[in-house]
Amino acid sequence: MIADKIVSLSRLEALLAQDRKSGETIVACSGSFDLLTAKHALLLERFKQEGDRLVVLLNSDRSIRSYKGPRRPIVLEEERAFLLASLGCVDYVCLFDEINPLAVLEKLKPNVYANGGDWGTGFLERDVVRGYGGRIYVAKRQTMTSTSDIVSRVQSLRDTPDVRAVFLDRDGVVIKDKRYLHRVEEVELMPGIISTLRRLQRLGYLLIIATNQSGIGRKLFTRTATDRVNSYLQTLLKKHGIILSDIFVCPHSPDKRCNCRKPAPGLLLMAAKKYGIALARSYLIGDAPRDIAAGKWVNCKTILLTSGPLPKNSLESPHFVIKKLSEVQRIIRE
Ligand SMILES: [Mg+2]
Ligand SMILES: [Zn+2]
Repeated sequence: MIADKIVSLSRLEALLAQDRKSGETIVACSGSFDLLTAKHALLLERFKQEGDRLVVLLNSDRSIRSYKGPRRPIVLEEERAFLLASLGCVDYVCLFDEINPLAVLEKLKPNVYANGGDWGTGFLERDVVRGYGGRIYVAKRQTMTSTSDIVSRVQSLRDTPDVRAVFLDRDGVVIKDKRYLHRVEEVELMPGIISTLRRLQRLGYLLIIATNQSGIGRKLFTRTATDRVNSYLQTLLKKHGIILSDIFVCPHSPDKRCNCRKPAPGLLLMAAKKYGIALARSYLIGDAPRDIAAGKWVNCKTILLTSGPLPKNSLESPHFVIKKLSEVQRIIRE
């Protein structure tokens, strides 16, 4: 049992006495192991090779607070101990409350005291261990990710928030769907779209249109006509204070089997790459099952604008259904 490896100091003394009787070499190391890393696992594995039994002397929460300040540890002692005990190479985990393990080492007198190379050879425990005739082992320096590397990576995530987007279908969501619309005069905003987009913009979302325009591939109108409609739409929204960051268009007819025509996710992936968007923190609003499928494929939250029947299959089933755009505000709130 994993929990059986976690022992008190007096229990550990008894266990080690038995181990010694059977001629086993005891290796000990110490540390706070606040966020257990692969580097720790590798070092412990290495330490174990110096003997038969590996003891981890683990700084208790109180011990860590006394030398790292009140904001540490990040992970509490029960869980740190459990994680260490889960490693196959670790035989015993023993918590200690003092600021360093010197007193514990005096008591246990492990045959070998092992340390990672990052601390050099002048560490505190050295003389105590040599004093009772123990051996010091210092592992080679490892360049793997350390706990403090992880802490600073997490901090930098906080300093630079995710880029989030709301992907919008064009026809039927931003403007009225007039089947193969390609003339500026046909552009008519959907009711509620201005206030909805304004709100989303205030919340910090990039607003990006992803639209299938197979009329281009079917030669019903030209790419230029679509571009004209799109830039007119961008200008129109700008007059209302709304910045559309981009409009991604699939110009292909379905028989081209491209990877950008929704339900394929190509347009969303292109946008994500260009703007560094965190898709899992983004939304897609569409009025067709294929819009939803594209959004779900890339892990966006999806909103289907419809009054009709709902799709049955899971790829096209939206996370949310709305009948009018003003309902978006009860779904996207932060
Ligand atoms: Mg549509
Ligand atoms: Zn395409």
